Amino acid sequence: MTDPLAAARHELALANRIIANEGVIDAFGHVSMRHPTDPNRYLLSRSRSPELVEPDDIYEFTLDSQPVTPPKERMYGERPIHGCIYQARPDVMAVCHHHSAAVLPFCVTGEELLPMFHLGATMGTKVPIRDSRDDFGDTNMVVIKPEEGASLAKALGPYWMVLMRRHGATLAGRSLKELVFRTIYSTRNAEMQLRSAALGKLYPLSAGEAALAGEYNLQISPLSRAFEYWSVRLQKAEAMTDSKFSLSGKTATTGAA
Ligand code: MN
Repeated sequence: MTDPLAAARHELALANRIIANEGVIDAFGHVSMRHPTDPNRYLLSRSRSPELVEPDDIYEFTLDSQPVTPPKERMYGERPIHGCIYQARPDVMAVCHHHSAAVLPFCVTGEELLPMFHLGATMGTKVPIRDSRDDFGDTNMVVIKPEEGASLAKALGPYWMVLMRRHGATLAGRSLKELVFRTIYSTRNAEMQLRSAALGKLYPLSAGEAALAGEYNLQISPLSRAFEYWSVRLQKAEAMTDSKFSLSGKTATTGAA
């Protein structure tokens, strides 16, 4: 698959399916990546549950979250989450938004998400929490208007994950693989924090440990090892269905290998 756009659409469909297969995302949530050759665009599926996303579902959007070609299907309403973060953060290459059950208790209580173990440290040295009421008062809680996306991007600031009060979480990555790793391990970290808090006092990593462990585990070797593992787990799960999705991309209709 030599066409970079076709390859990116396949990689993004795979990332959607992996994050769903690992139990982070359910019917809702979405995963995007910056366009591989045009930094002023990003790629995102049409409105479809991530577990079902195929390369052909993926559209191109401007950073104002407008589709580049007229859409034939319904689009996700919360596109500004993605477009506004790509606008604010030139270093961000991929974005995920989800409402995972492990993270929601932190969004409801305002308890800080803390690095419980070395892999969890990949969520970043701090996870801010954003309260939409600060900027907008009572809303329907979703991030649909451009100004709501800008407010969320501002709350993310220089960090890699932001909790959204009584809604969910949004994460960013310097690559799609980094994003997938951070999304899955921050969710595992949240699960661990909930269980640990039930046992007793929490002793998270120190700030220095979190910074070092986060950096160490985001190297290409651990990212590739985890991605291979998640890909095989997905392959096994899809073998039990009549899924036409090809992990290798060899039968993808968007580009021949
Ligand atoms: Mn949402």
